[in-house]
Amino acid sequence: MTNNEDKNIGIIVKNMDYKDDSKIIFIITNEGLISLIARGANKLKSKNNAYTKILTKIEYNSKGKFITTAKIIHNYNNIKVNIDIYTKILIILEMSYVLAPHITDYELFFRFLSDILDLINNYKYSDLINLYVLTFRIKLLYLLGVAPILSKCVSCGRKENLIGFSLDNGGMLCLNCASDLNKINHSNYIQLFRILYLTKLDKLNDEYLIELNKSYNEEDIENIDKLINSYYESYLGFKSKSKEILNKI
Ligand SMILES: [Zn+2]
Repeated sequence: MTNNEDKNIGIIVKNMDYKDDSKIIFIITNEGLISLIARGANKLKSKNNAYTKILTKIEYNSKGKFITTAKIIHNYNNIKVNIDIYTKILIILEMSYVLAPHITDYELFFRFLSDILDLINNYKYSDLINLYVLTFRIKLLYLLGVAPILSKCVSCGRKENLIGFSLDNGGMLCLNCASDLNKINHSNYIQLFRILYLTKLDKLNDEYLIELNKSYNEEDIENIDKLINSYYESYLGFKSKSKEILNKI
């Protein structure tokens, strides 16, 4: 064990004002979602002001409910300087905050969140941000314990003749098992759903997504986005607030 592993590191996904100019910050760490009070963080001149913003990775020490010292280790500046991209990734922070209690493997979750934010922060083509966010939402289903069954028929287990995705069944259905074809999504975009779910994060980058993007159009991306919204609503009762706001803009 190195000293590094003993340090508290986390990513701030939410904050709120608290009495006497303080703030409560909510941090995703190796141990899950943690909330701490940063004294005086709402005073502009306070040293506690700088590190309490959302989308900041910090290293910190705490005592009881209070954060005692902290330093910023990643500011995700490429995301923060672009308001469009920043707005798009708010859903990642919102989902991390709201859905963290459903997650059991926090170590994996923290690494996953950290990796995907790094990938987005290193973007070269802003057109691809939607695909990164989509990948986060699809892959998160696994960590939430409600992963869709995409490589075989959810009903009989056959791997042949998979004709489409059934929201009611939470996975692919084969020709034999699909009774109501109207209730099945069997378009091109289901393939994209499968690819994004199965692609390892270390393979995922702008070059890979550009190639992938060539086979799909905007409508496919919208359809898959809708399907994932429905999936989250059906299986977790989750409906994003930041997404609703985003859609209204
Ligand atoms: Zn079947």
